[in-house]
Amino acid sequence: MKASVTCPKCLNRRILHVDSIADKTQIAKGAVLSVRAKVPFTVIGRWKNEGEFECVICAACGYTEWYAKNPDAITVDDETVTVLPVPRSEPYR
Ligand SMILES: [Zn+2]
Repeated sequence: MKASVTCPKCLNRRILHVDSIADKTQIAKGAVLSVRAKVPFTVIGRWKNEGEFECVICAACGYTEWYAKNPDAITVDDETVTVLPVPRSEPYR
C-alpha cells in the first residue's frame, strides 16, 4: 500500500502515512496505540517520537499497514524475534 498508494482492500487512492504513533503511556486510558498528529500552531516544540513504527492508512476503509522504520536494527534473538523461514515451494529471492 505504501509503494502502490492504493488500498489492497477497497482500491482507494487516498492513503495516509503516519510517522508518529503514541503508545498507552502517552494517550487516553483504555487505548493501546494511537496515531499521533501534531496540532497546527502549537507553541510547544516538536514532539520527540522514539517509536520504531510507522503506518499507512486507507482514508476510505481504514485498512492499515505497519512498518518498522529501521528493520535492519532489530535484534533477532530467536526467542521473541525470529526470521520466518522461506517455504520450500517458493523460489529463493
Ligand atoms: Zn481501503
